[in-house]
Amino acid sequence: MNILFSEKLIRKRISEISEQISFDYKDREVLLIGVLNGSFVFCADVVRNLTNVKFKIDFITISSYLGIRSTGKIEVLSRFKENITGKDVLILDDIIETGMTLDFIIKEVASKNPKSLKTCVLVDKRCMRKKDVPVEYICLEMAASMGNDFVVGYGLDYNGFFRGLPYICKLEEFVR
Ligand code: 5GP
Ligand code: MG
Repeated sequence: MNILFSEKLIRKRISEISEQISFDYKDREVLLIGVLNGSFVFCADVVRNLTNVKFKIDFITISSYLGIRSTGKIEVLSRFKENITGKDVLILDDIIETGMTLDFIIKEVASKNPKSLKTCVLVDKRCMRKKDVPVEYICLEMAASMGNDFVVGYGLDYNGFFRGLPYICKLEEFVR
């Protein structure tokens, strides 16, 4: 089994990123917005690693993938409920590829005039980027040498499955 990011590495990086977020938002109140479904595992880990940060968490449910392909059409299945105006907002997503999804969500949130807006992702597939989206906190980078294959695990799915894997690997390890 070829594991791209081990459980141990993921845990270490989430702890480091959470420490950075805790430092940057020290003694402030932040509204976290998780992008469902993929980021539920990541969100649960980040919030338990934050220290001295008062936060609320809300979610937006987005769908753009069918199998391993982006449909190119971003669909909002459910929208966040918290008031965003005047808040320090941090968006948490599972993986950024072209950047279209995060770009869409950033515009959605920005239109409600938050005090500040930053983004945080578990995995960055940088070589696939089409939109120049600012990402302030990146846990794991998929180097070009790792390829740009579809990955699963740690919340990331293939048609709804594989989200419970404690590590991240290529889908081809399971489906050929
Ligand atoms: P983007 O809009 O940046 O191209 O794609 C982002 C969204 O597509 C992610 O939030 C995720 O839901 C899905 N996605 C992109 N690449 C992968 C991948 O390798 N594996 C999985 N499971 N989802 C992906
Ligand atoms: Mg997603």
